[in-house]
Amino acid sequence: MRRFICLTLALALLATTPGTAWALTGVAPIPGPVVRAFDPPSVKWGSGHRGVDLLGAPGESVVAAAGGTVTYAAVLAGRGVLVISHGELRTTYEPVKATVKVGDKVAAGDVVGKLDDGHACPGGTCLHWGLKRGDEYLDPLSLLDHLQVRLLPASAKAVAKKLADGRKTAISSGEGIPGLFTMPTDGALGSPFGMRFHPIFHEWRMHSGVDIGGSCGQDIRAAAPGKVESVGYDDSGGHRLVIDHGVIGGHRLRTHYLHAQGYSVTAGQAVARGQVVGKVGSTGWSTGCHLHFSVSVDGAYVDPAGYL
Ligand SMILES: [Zn+2]
Ligand SMILES: [Zn+2]
Repeated sequence: MRRFICLTLALALLATTPGTAWALTGVAPIPGPVVRAFDPPSVKWGSGHRGVDLLGAPGESVVAAAGGTVTYAAVLAGRGVLVISHGELRTTYEPVKATVKVGDKVAAGDVVGKLDDGHACPGGTCLHWGLKRGDEYLDPLSLLDHLQVRLLPASAKAVAKKLADGRKTAISSGEGIPGLFTMPTDGALGSPFGMRFHPIFHEWRMHSGVDIGGSCGQDIRAAAPGKVESVGYDDSGGHRLVIDHGVIGGHRLRTHYLHAQGYSVTAGQAVARGQVVGKVGSTGWSTGCHLHFSVSVDGAYVDPAGYL
């Protein structure tokens, strides 16, 4: 009985001391520096940042921040989300390709998945790491040793800058960033980017993208996270869609999707990587069902092959 009272008191103290370190201590899920700090919204539904972003590389191993049980591992809106419960606290990890399943017991430092891309942050790809108690968002850095936390910001800026500079050079030089965009539909890359003898007009014309063979009605997916810039129709492109992926490495990147049967998204809508945005069709100047996919950098078309 006496032990029970002590525990209750300790929990009450934890609950009423803001900014306290939790009884739980942990390790960082990836070594990368913090490039975006915890910035909880002032009201529950407001905007803010409900966790911290740790800079990483896609494919990098993600470890459990503390021992616990996996209580969620699924893809939510195109993004892999993993949740580990540690008693009253839960840690969340995204976007992650989980290598554990619900019910698995994990120890601090155990590999639980691979970092996926999809959470853009200064310098590239980040792991969004969260800490929750009930519905309340807490700062996950409070789980770490304070010295470790204080050492992060200076190195964070340097690493983020180096990555951003590398991307800038790769895009400016026309080299591209392989893997930045994922295939927007199933099928082989057909007619490539560049000058080609046009199948309808029978003359040499510039082909502003790549054609991806596909069946009529198959899914078209967003090639990367972004915001729908426009959805429209014109005689040449048929039903066309433009997704704005924002500024990456100092350049504005957009993807363009032509000839669809139609789109299921509207202008202004945020889309996740891999989210279904429409169906392959043969509208406009097209000789059969296929997706014409273009990539533009600061408004000029570039070879999508450098980005797939
Ligand atoms: Zn984040
Ligand atoms: Zn085409």
